[in-house]
Amino acid sequence: MIESVIAGNWKMNKTIAEAVGFASRLREALGASPGPEVIVAPPFTALRAVAEVLRGSAVRLAAQNLHEAEKGAYTGEISGGMLREAGCQYVIIGHSERRTLFSEGNDAVNLKLRAALAAGLKPIFCIGETLREREEDRTKTVIERQLKEGLNNLTAGDIGRSLFAYEPVWAIGTGRTATPEQAEEVHRFIREWIAGQYGRGSAEELAILYGGSVTPANIASLMLQQDINGALVGGASLDVESFLQVVRYNNIQEV
Ligand code: PEP
Repeated sequence: MIESVIAGNWKMNKTIAEAVGFASRLREALGASPGPEVIVAPPFTALRAVAEVLRGSAVRLAAQNLHEAEKGAYTGEISGGMLREAGCQYVIIGHSERRTLFSEGNDAVNLKLRAALAAGLKPIFCIGETLREREEDRTKTVIERQLKEGLNNLTAGDIGRSLFAYEPVWAIGTGRTATPEQAEEVHRFIREWIAGQYGRGSAEELAILYGGSVTPANIASLMLQQDINGALVGGASLDVESFLQVVRYNNIQEV
């Protein structure tokens, strides 16, 4: 059985003080209560301080990006080893904002995935189609290409150390969520593709998160889908109480 995961991507938001305040409240609210694995991805500047607050808790820390080299003359970049040292267990790779705003293609994403794994970080590998690609009925072709090129030379062991996130670009930050059925169709496609390439065992153990305007109001219906194992949350992860409601989606269902 795959453990469900709720990850919050804060993007370029929060001062160190705000990030520490959020992490303290999250830690206090979640305590030792069972629930999904919870991950937060603060900006680089707040990683170390948030790691200190979360030390000894079940909440995990992610970075939002890394550079593929171990070190060197790459002004403004951060390596996987540096992220590990700062206290990260995860790193988001291939987010659509990196792909579109910073021109990261599948080859760059592949290098970053390999660098993350080599540094002992677990990648949260993001893929998803644009609105135009969906309207042209090319969703599966695009997803397949992102998988094939992004995962080039990765082993089944590497897949076992990764999380995937299906994030339709048209649903990110737009308030327009994929319906549970639309998301499930792509999640199933991804799982079947992994089964074909890496074996059924790898596919059945892979957590595939959905991302794109997830809120406390829609998380429960998304999580009812068989192949949706969690969520990567942007906007609704910025307010700790709203993020906690997403994390506690099981309780929402019971109300
Ligand atoms: C994201 O950026 O990964 C995301 C899913 O954002 P939002 O929840 O705001 O759509």
